[in-house]
Amino acid sequence: MGLKATSIPFLSCESRKVSIPLMIHIEEGQAMRLCIFLGSASGVKDSYSLASKTLGRELAKNGIGVVYGGASVGLMGAVADAALHEGGEVIGVIPQSLFDKEVGHLGLSQLHVVQSMHERKAMMAELSDGFIALPGGIGTFEELFEVWTWAQLGYHPKPCSILNVDGYYDQLIGFLDHTVRQGFLKQSHRDLLIVEQDASKLIERIKSYHPPLVPKWN
Ligand code: AMP
Repeated sequence: MGLKATSIPFLSCESRKVSIPLMIHIEEGQAMRLCIFLGSASGVKDSYSLASKTLGRELAKNGIGVVYGGASVGLMGAVADAALHEGGEVIGVIPQSLFDKEVGHLGLSQLHVVQSMHERKAMMAELSDGFIALPGGIGTFEELFEVWTWAQLGYHPKPCSILNVDGYYDQLIGFLDHTVRQGFLKQSHRDLLIVEQDASKLIERIKSYHPPLVPKWN
């Protein structure tokens, strides 16, 4: 992709009392970083941890930095440790209130301790050039859906993706296709979400991603 987002300031809409993230600054030539959303638990299958470690290693081998929630537990810890072990850059962003509960990882390249969950998500998005969700719970879903809906609205051009380990997301993907059939999601916006089962293939698709122009409102 070769593009790097360096700033996502927030545009305030006073009349509606909301803040809208707005991408305004793109630079070329910096190393890519990808934001990984995944469970603070490990799940019941070994394949979830194995896939998290494989992804961490593959990202490091490709010279791609990892941005994630900064925990040392569950799949979050697994991806971070694997990338670090391979010599990769790993940046964590964790709210102060979760530092003890999620056992903030003290061996990272950088650990940002922030004040709120909103600050965490904004910083993770700002530091990253794309997003990958692995198996996880509702925290993982919330993070993925936020960045994907931002892409749908055209707030950022970054790839959003799922690494569908062991069919974990099959039912969600089926439901998303149901929402298209029922007229609540455009096929072109459904297609903004990349789904792959293999870490290397997913990384290749993200590296060659060109954001399509698909306006939400027309
Ligand atoms: P989970 O998938 O529920 O295990 O959570 C994975 C990560 O998402 C953890 O670091 C949680 O702190 C984080 N998380 C939980 N709730 C939210 C939320 N509302 N927004 C953003 N991240 C969250």
